[in-house]
Amino acid sequence: MKSLKELFRIGPGPSSSHTLGPQRASKMFKEHTPNAYYYEAELFGSLSLTGKGHLTDYIIIETMKPKDCNVFFKVGENLKHPNTMVLSAYDDKRNLIDQWTVYSVGGGAIEIEGVASAKEKDIYPHASFQEISQYCKEHGLSLYQYVDAFEQIDDYLEMIIKQMCKTVDTGLNKEGELPGKLHLKRIGRSLLKKAVQCEIAAEKERLLLSAYAYSASEENASGGTTVTAPTLGSSGILPALIYYFYYDLKYPMEEIIKGIKIAGIIGNLIKRNATISGAEGGCQAEVGAACAMASAMVAQFRGLEEHQIEYAAEMGIEHHLGLTCDPVGGYVMIPCIERNAVATLRAMDSAVLAQFISEVKKNKVSFDMVVHTMNYTGKKLAIELKETSLGGLATVVPMEEK
Ligand code: SF4
Repeated sequence: MKSLKELFRIGPGPSSSHTLGPQRASKMFKEHTPNAYYYEAELFGSLSLTGKGHLTDYIIIETMKPKDCNVFFKVGENLKHPNTMVLSAYDDKRNLIDQWTVYSVGGGAIEIEGVASAKEKDIYPHASFQEISQYCKEHGLSLYQYVDAFEQIDDYLEMIIKQMCKTVDTGLNKEGELPGKLHLKRIGRSLLKKAVQCEIAAEKERLLLSAYAYSASEENASGGTTVTAPTLGSSGILPALIYYFYYDLKYPMEEIIKGIKIAGIIGNLIKRNATISGAEGGCQAEVGAACAMASAMVAQFRGLEEHQIEYAAEMGIEHHLGLTCDPVGGYVMIPCIERNAVATLRAMDSAVLAQFISEVKKNKVSFDMVVHTMNYTGKKLAIELKETSLGGLATVVPMEEK
């Protein structure tokens, strides 16, 4: 498995596979072709079908500046990956200088056809939770110490945590409409006001968490700076919980870092053994994966044992199995923003339930089993329900006219 730096990346919203990945590919291609006069980008599959709402064309054109770039939304068949793009560089006589076929494989990661160096090296030698657990037992390590055994990453993770909190803060301080044709109102700040006024402790906590999740997701939806966790579409969940534990519950930074390491292991395993791309596996791969990561992180915050952390992560994903990706209008707004808030609350519940249920019964479903099932389920999902906006909510929710 790769470094956690490959999982947690800072970038512009609203979608890691549709903005961050294409942005990285365009930057690399531009550096690779300094003599180009102008560029073309052809988008296929999900990148074509939801690229407009996900701002894919915008981010490519911006990245290629000051050189011109034309973006084409194409229909492709028998694609090797549902997020495929072809970048072409031309000289001033319209001769093709170079061309790359790029796959945006989720979480901002890219693979370039025929370019091996685009694939990052493996840092962690294990491929399943069971293998990691066995290694930890043999070496007397806790799960967060497992990360320390393979990479020194505390400073990087602290920077990631600070960006996550900044994204929540930025969102909390904004009101008005999100950009785009949905005319959706930002409500993170209003939810925070309701939380402050709420006198029932249990409801106050849920309102605070929801306010933070909405704020981070609204920031993402408007193209703000966000952290993939594991993707940008699902980037409201970890930040909401981290913000709550750090600022409201006053957990020290070192505890937050331990928690995000656990989340990182879980996210890496899902990325390795299934997918974190909505175009490949539906929303279970994005919000489901984020919920599993967050559930494990909260379990760590609660000081739970390894088998309870595993239970929380398993529960976090098991109840998202089959979750479809059908964004209305191709925007990362409906159902995405509300879904981030719901999954944040579910992560808290999963950690609490895992703690108490594990005291009375052993979980029959391992984390590795549920990841395997998620991969299988993602392959079975209809293409209309995998980030194409061709089915589901995308075809029944009307686009609001102003
Ligand atoms: S429905 Fe889920 S996977 Fe699809 S764009 Fe929204 S957050 Fe991403």
